[in-house]
Amino acid sequence: MARAKLIVGNWKMNGTAAELGEIAAMAAAGADLPAHVTLAICPPATLIDRARTVATGRLVIGAQDVHAAGHGAFTGSVSVAMLDDAGARLVIVGHSERRADHHETDADVRAKAEAVLEGGMTAIVCVGETAAERDAGTTLTVINAQLDGSLPGSVTGLAVAYEPVWAIGSGLTPTLQQVGGVHAAIRTNLVARYGDAGEAVAILYGGSVKPGNAVEILAIDNVDGALVGGASLTAAEFLGIVRAA
Ligand code: PEP
Repeated sequence: MARAKLIVGNWKMNGTAAELGEIAAMAAAGADLPAHVTLAICPPATLIDRARTVATGRLVIGAQDVHAAGHGAFTGSVSVAMLDDAGARLVIVGHSERRADHHETDADVRAKAEAVLEGGMTAIVCVGETAAERDAGTTLTVINAQLDGSLPGSVTGLAVAYEPVWAIGSGLTPTLQQVGGVHAAIRTNLVARYGDAGEAVAILYGGSVKPGNAVEILAIDNVDGALVGGASLTAAEFLGIVRAA
């Protein structure tokens, strides 16, 4: 099945007003992209509102995390409605840095994904094995358990990102065959869960994607886009990946 390509940049805890020019440059280049490519940037929450003002055309602005509750006594957190109000249209949930550093469980991730979809936005649910889990031969068991625990009941607006923890920010990537194997297993899980609608869910690969390896990664079956960290910080590098799509 032919699917569109979704290329999403995750700026993590990087970026102030001084970097808004990078987003403007991405937006300008994005205007000429073929219709099957969607381009999105997730700046820190403090920049979403200003990013939206420079993100003309087809550049989508997203967020890196959200609280599952609508409002309340959750100091430091932001809700789906707040992100929507600021201009975000998609939200990354369950990134491995949040799972590890903030002890987020599959149930937490699922609650966030449900809230994002209920708010009418796209939720990108991240899953991925550690190096120890891959070495132990348990990659697919781990991925399926994360999917079973983290995926929402509803499928409209859902995307999944496969991000091997050991590949994030390391310059290491799985072989093309390994990526293809995990993405095929994720597709099987999605179709078993959602029926035909599972065929249409975008499955992104993330972990040290660069302009130099993007063409071959994006050509793999069931790789419907990329989630990009370090290489999304500048328009020059990010657009190199986008062109590969
Ligand atoms: C990420 O953190 O989602 C990521 C993919 O990072 P990098 O591209 O830097 O490996």
